Amino acid sequence: MIVDADTIEAGACLWADVCIVGGGAAGISLALALSGQGLRIVLLESGKQREHAATQALYAGEVADERLHSPPDKYRQRRMGGSTAIWGGRCVPFDPIDFETRSWVPDSGWPLSHADLLPFYPEANELAEAGRFSYDADEALGRAAPPMIRGFDSALVRTNSLERFSCPTNFGRRYARRLQLAGDVKVLLGANCTAVRLLPDGSAVDELDVRTLAGRRFRVAVRSAVLATGGLETARLLLASRDVAPAGIGNEHDVVGRYYMCHIAGNVGALTLNGSVRDVRHGYEVTPEGIYCRRRLSVSEAEQRRRGLANAVARLHFPRITDPAHRNGVLSGLFLVRRLISYEYGKRLNDGTPATAAIYARHLLNVMADPVDTSAFLAHWVVRRTLAQRKFPSVILRNRTNRFSLEVHGEHTPRSDSRVTLTGCHDALGMPRLRVDWRYSAGDIESIRRTLDLMAREFERTGTGRLEYDAHRLEEDLLRFGAYGGHHIGTARMGTDVRKSVVDRDCRVHSVGNLYVAGSAVFPTSSQANPTLALIALSLRLGKHLAQRLTARPVTLVDTGKPAAAPRPELPLAA
Ligand SMILES: Cc1cc2nc3c(=O)[nH]c(=O)nc-3n(C[C@H](O)[C@H](O)[C@H](O)COP(=O)(O)OP(=O)(O)OC[C@H]3O[C@@H](n4cnc5c(N)ncnc54)[C@H](O)[C@@H]3O)c2cc1C
Repeated sequence: MIVDADTIEAGACLWADVCIVGGGAAGISLALALSGQGLRIVLLESGKQREHAATQALYAGEVADERLHSPPDKYRQRRMGGSTAIWGGRCVPFDPIDFETRSWVPDSGWPLSHADLLPFYPEANELAEAGRFSYDADEALGRAAPPMIRGFDSALVRTNSLERFSCPTNFGRRYARRLQLAGDVKVLLGANCTAVRLLPDGSAVDELDVRTLAGRRFRVAVRSAVLATGGLETARLLLASRDVAPAGIGNEHDVVGRYYMCHIAGNVGALTLNGSVRDVRHGYEVTPEGIYCRRRLSVSEAEQRRRGLANAVARLHFPRITDPAHRNGVLSGLFLVRRLISYEYGKRLNDGTPATAAIYARHLLNVMADPVDTSAFLAHWVVRRTLAQRKFPSVILRNRTNRFSLEVHGEHTPRSDSRVTLTGCHDALGMPRLRVDWRYSAGDIESIRRTLDLMAREFERTGTGRLEYDAHRLEEDLLRFGAYGGHHIGTARMGTDVRKSVVDRDCRVHSVGNLYVAGSAVFPTSSQANPTLALIALSLRLGKHLAQRLTARPVTLVDTGKPAAAPRPELPLAA
């Protein structure tokens, strides 16, 4: 059932076997996984079904350097469905190597393996509406499908790994009906968790404080609580809950909020491929079940190990949009309408190049000189993107020259001084606001440089093309827009060493017996992959763990609905 939190009696104490805080991809996947298991689930979601300015303003905060990281109320959405209301839908699983301890990646190594997560990916793919869990081009498209680049046969640089695309599915809208009909799930909209209250000895969560923007306050007493509030907000909630744990919950060793990662991404260089344009697949292909997918260049795991490289991929991309020298009407058209595009998708059209009258005039000339392609693109965009239910994922241009730039998406390696902290300012509900200080390492850029050099050598060796880039400008090209927006990773990292991590392999906060985190906050490393598919899989794994743990000791279900003696929270399991 889904109800407005303002309908809950002021001062009431609800009771839940599992209280999930946050109704984004992580929280909704977890609620669906737990439903039907004989448990009482309460899902607290700050937002409602639509964007609401005052709710979104609760996300506002500070950044140390706006050139490096967008303000915290951008690139995330505080409403039912969370950021899936605006995500791009690119689904990619993590690679087995991402879970390993790699001597060349400081603080790498997950306490679980790729094999541990594998059983949960097919259902994660289904929830994301990205079709089968099949990310190898031969398997997903069939062996008869032509290769990405004919003649590029390399054991070192792969062209067969795929990314698949969700509709993109807005989890809030897509799963509203299932949640509405679920008798064991109570979704409260407009319900902001403002504090996690521990038992006096700090060993377990007792209650969660909830407030609405209209001023209503109530509590939820829990057997277990799960923070699924996104990679930034999870750290905020842990750090701000200080009545029993003075440094914040799970923060005995000053790890909460540290190791904050996004991805290192940008458009780099010029790749000129030999042969016919028909021998190159740079855009979207469609799997037999109708899912858009795309191939990319990636370095084999063996070669990453041999050369000590961080994980990274590169897609064949078009030239920089802002530079009218590309003489492409579609790209110039995008430049001209950039002010109509949302902050998140327009940011890459505002790269600091001075937009003088002369630049505008050259873009306008490009559009006028290219009427056929420009109108064909417009028609395609309206039919396949605006009106279609499964949307064409992004702008792809007809390729007439076999010249591309590379769109790099690389692992951002963890460092403890890349972090989020609390400021002295408070939001409308009295919660301290966040300050984001995102940092990267010279090694991140160097690893991408060596990856590009390897790719260049393989193009040359196979005689398929020439990749050129300016190594001196690489850092500028990769950091032109700062941290890749929307991927908020690592602020409550998973590990076995309690001094260097916040949660264990089951996503449970080390020091609190019944408090869990769902989402990319727990990822100890960032991979080349976008985070959402993996965080859904991890949420489903958490669902299985919680169901096993909580149904082993059933309790009588009663809806207190008002202040009452709640059943005792679950105590920590014996070590
Ligand atoms: C423009 C953009 C494009 C993206 N494209 C991709 C992509 O192509 N592929 C990909 O893998 N990822 C992509 N992402 C990232 C993706 O959207 C996120 O990884 C994913 O949505 C995170 O889900 P989540 O449930 O962990 O967190 P969120 O989506 O942040 O959900 C958290 C929820 O918690 C609620 N909440 C917060 N605080 C509280 C509180 N105190 N009390 C109660 N509720 C609270 C919020 O309202 C929200 O609904 C993109 C993101 C953006 C912004």
